[in-house]
Amino acid sequence: MRYVMKFGGSCMKNGENIRRSAEIVKQYREKGGEIVTITSAMSRVTDEILDALKKAEDGREGEIEEFIGKLAEKHEEACREAINDSQLREETWKEEEAEINELRKLLSVIAYLREVTPRVRDYALSFGERLSTRIFWGSLLDLGIRAEYLRGWEAGIVTNENFGSARPLMTVTYREVKKRLTPLLEKGIVPVVTGFIAATPEGVVTTLGRGGSDYSATIIGAALGVDEIILWKDVEGVMTADPKLVPDARTVPRMSYEEVVELAYFGAQVIHPLALEPASRENIPIRVKSVFNPSAEGTLITKIAEGPTVKALTMIKNSAIILVGGAEAAEPSMIAPKVLSLMHELGIRVLMLSQASSQANISIAIPKDDLDRALKAIRSGFAPGEVQIDHEEGICVIAVIGSGMRGKPGVAAKIFNAVAEKGINVRMIAQGSSELNISFAVREEDGVKALRSLHEEFRLNA
Ligand code: ASP
Ligand code: MG
Repeated sequence: MRYVMKFGGSCMKNGENIRRSAEIVKQYREKGGEIVTITSAMSRVTDEILDALKKAEDGREGEIEEFIGKLAEKHEEACREAINDSQLREETWKEEEAEINELRKLLSVIAYLREVTPRVRDYALSFGERLSTRIFWGSLLDLGIRAEYLRGWEAGIVTNENFGSARPLMTVTYREVKKRLTPLLEKGIVPVVTGFIAATPEGVVTTLGRGGSDYSATIIGAALGVDEIILWKDVEGVMTADPKLVPDARTVPRMSYEEVVELAYFGAQVIHPLALEPASRENIPIRVKSVFNPSAEGTLITKIAEGPTVKALTMIKNSAIILVGGAEAAEPSMIAPKVLSLMHELGIRVLMLSQASSQANISIAIPKDDLDRALKAIRSGFAPGEVQIDHEEGICVIAVIGSGMRGKPGVAAKIFNAVAEKGINVRMIAQGSSELNISFAVREEDGVKALRSLHEEFRLNA
């Protein structure tokens, strides 16, 4: 079997977890698996670099030194825990130190110039994955595994220049990834690749957007046509609901790519939403598993996934509803397209849209933080008196997800009965045109109660 295995930030949290992850690679190697690994930065490091960039921009040099000191300490400690052989550990640490110094120099130049361009930001962020991945590589060598350390671009990921959320140039990328990684795999070497980072055709460093290591994994998995992409985490897979909100949440055994896209859209942080695309195009199964329980099956994500009608629930807090009524409007059918295009121009995510059949009244749900901007745009987008605008804050949006709802009558009724039984007032309802989700909005204080009652109603804890 050929695998791409991605180890997320939580698997890179400290030296102990790095070692645990390396041991998993060893077990799969011993069973004859051919493996490419992709690793995230150690947890929180990406945020810390972003924070340091801000400090540098403000010229706060003292705080940069403090950041560098902590970064060095964190990685040095991880080296100590993850690599036993002292010579290997010292060599690894020496290279880490050189890179940390490079980052320090970069930050002091920024502090001098008081400016961070998107290009420089991506370059600075690349250090997170470069540092974590080298320790992981050292840990693999320490376990006697033949492995080669590669930055994203050395593995062949080539992107456009859209810094901050660069997109792979697929044709070149597929060709380069195959050319560079296949010979290593054939020699029994594990390519150990930094997630999240890549480069333009000219070699300028780019990043694939927050959480982008998932994307690195599926790009490489698709290019190589591997048998399975495993996303290793510290939780046992995709959950039926957030276990912090619903204590008896369970792992969902099977999901389809489209169901996972839907979940990600409604805020569940399962996987980088773009990451599904390369895998689904090449029809490569993705498995989400926990490094703390590697023998559990986790969640298997494929094109078609049988299972219960409803597979998972998710909730987006901090939302708001805007109602636009067109009593006086000459052209009611224009209200929805106009409101949507105003939101699109502002880059505001419309979580739900519902429209009365008269088309003269629509509601949208959006993140609360965008409410003021949205209201302002809608007010100035219509002629005075043309529409009536209202809004409601303190809302949360719940989405019920499962492809089994498609063409199955009565699911919506079941949802609303369950919620009504708890005396919860539903403020707004929408169904995705794909019939993969039904979403509704309730008052923030009713959210968890609604979530739990649906979890029970659809027997998601069974
Ligand atoms: N380190 C990057 C981030 O925190 C990428 C990733 O973790 O996937 O967003
Ligand atoms: Mg991550």
